[in-house]
Amino acid sequence: MTDWRPLEGVDVDGINADLVHGEPTVDVAIYLPDNLDERHKEKVTVDLLLKGLVDAKEIFGAVGVQINLTSFTTGHLDPALFEVRSTAGPDMPTGRFTNMYRNAERHPSILSREALAAFDAMIPDAPDADRTLHIVVLEDVFMSFHERLDFRTFQLKTISTGGLSFPGYMYGATIPRHMRGVISITDITKGETSWKTIAHEMGHKLLNVSHEYRSTSPAHEVRAEGGLMLYGQGTEIASGPEGRYHRERLHVSPYLYRLDEDGTKVWNPDYAEDGFYYDPIYEGISVDLDAEAS
Ligand SMILES: [Zn+2]
Repeated sequence: MTDWRPLEGVDVDGINADLVHGEPTVDVAIYLPDNLDERHKEKVTVDLLLKGLVDAKEIFGAVGVQINLTSFTTGHLDPALFEVRSTAGPDMPTGRFTNMYRNAERHPSILSREALAAFDAMIPDAPDADRTLHIVVLEDVFMSFHERLDFRTFQLKTISTGGLSFPGYMYGATIPRHMRGVISITDITKGETSWKTIAHEMGHKLLNVSHEYRSTSPAHEVRAEGGLMLYGQGTEIASGPEGRYHRERLHVSPYLYRLDEDGTKVWNPDYAEDGFYYDPIYEGISVDLDAEAS
């Protein structure tokens, strides 16, 4: 267990005041180290975190999912863990002979040693921790991936992320179970769409999809308007085959529950395999991308 404490001045009950008993709900916990560097502090403030959460409540509320803030805690974090790499090593290039989702099943991402240590220092192994989204604030999370330059050449690119979701479709079951809902937030002041970073990262976790929308196939970085899962102002979580089943996928997420009459959480079924894009829980609501990979 960690010895972190509730952050004073955060009105958790007020934020949750609009929750409706029995509606599909996702639990979210927020963790903000109290010793981050002065020069980082303005990039992720308490107000920005809460605003991002309230915006996420609106976006997911529009498709019938409410967000319950379970805790907002603070405490000391070893400064050696302020900056982490998202994975233990550069992942392999993807998409040569199968799509990125199938490729990730064969070669799941593995958390870096320091990312694992940082999350372990903040996220307690408490009841329902494995069904909670854990939003952890760090100073930098570096992600590396390959860009295809020609038919046989790939260039490794490393980016400083503003938010990263460590999604099931990339990591499968390689993240320790109690922290599998982790999302890092490192900068929500970067640009015009930073206001939706928290909702977008929650979307990766809850829809279990990459950057895709309607006719836009998944890719590492897609700057376009329309959907929550693109880098634009869009917030739509579309349904049906033309919407790549995003709304249907959201509603079967193992992170969702309903309270029964006694106030007991009735969870959606857990992933049947390891929680990749084509996990059996998404039977009939995933897109066969093989034809699109060329
Ligand atoms: Zn994203």
